[in-house]
Amino acid sequence: MRTKLAAGNWKMNGLKAALSELGEMAAAASGPAEVLICPPVTLVAAAADAAEGLAIGGQDCHAKASGAHTGDVSAAMLADAGAEYVILGHSERRTDHDEHDEDVRAKCEAAWDAGLKVVLCVGESLEEREASNTLDIIGGQLAKSIPDGATGHNLVVAYEPIWAIGTGKVPTTDQIGEVHDFMRARLEKRFGEGVGRSVRLLYGGSVKPSNAGEIFAVSNVDGALVGGASLKAADFVPIIEALN
Ligand code: PEP
Repeated sequence: MRTKLAAGNWKMNGLKAALSELGEMAAAASGPAEVLICPPVTLVAAAADAAEGLAIGGQDCHAKASGAHTGDVSAAMLADAGAEYVILGHSERRTDHDEHDEDVRAKCEAAWDAGLKVVLCVGESLEEREASNTLDIIGGQLAKSIPDGATGHNLVVAYEPIWAIGTGKVPTTDQIGEVHDFMRARLEKRFGEGVGRSVRLLYGGSVKPSNAGEIFAVSNVDGALVGGASLKAADFVPIIEALN
């Protein structure tokens, strides 16, 4: 049985005052689903101290363990600050920082070396979907950005269609199900049935309280990676509850 996961990606949002949202989120995390919050790096240590019952994660890490990389953060630093997870390969990183699958793979190895669990994001653009290339794109991203050595413990995959992130547009449940079933099959083929079946698959892109229930009912959807609706407990708690 895969433990359901409600993951919040705060992106570049949140000053210290935002930590006050974590109390209610932590209270909602007493159910069977795991709850993860990935605040900006400035808040990781404080969030880890403040929020018993919530898992805390970073939003990116460098592929190297240390060195002359001004402004970057290593996986070991995130772990040292209390993070348990790190998001890698988010489409905003791929676009804003020109990250490619090879970079994501190297970062994933670094994260695993530091003992972090990885939420690895894949997703197609609108053009790619309209050209009926979605499954090819997702298959390529899975093959190239996940290193050997994945397990149900160290890897979570998030399917985030780029055109659905922050736009209010959501794929149909059939479209989500098609991609999630495909990802499950690809993971089983590459890593074996045991591992392939144990990796959790999240959907991400404009998830909100009003659509969470129907998305969570789709086959092979084990939870959600949530951006905007994870910033406030009033929005995120009902999403956690829809998963429980
Ligand atoms: C995200 O960026 O991971 C995301 C899913 O954002 P939103 O929920 O705001 O669409």
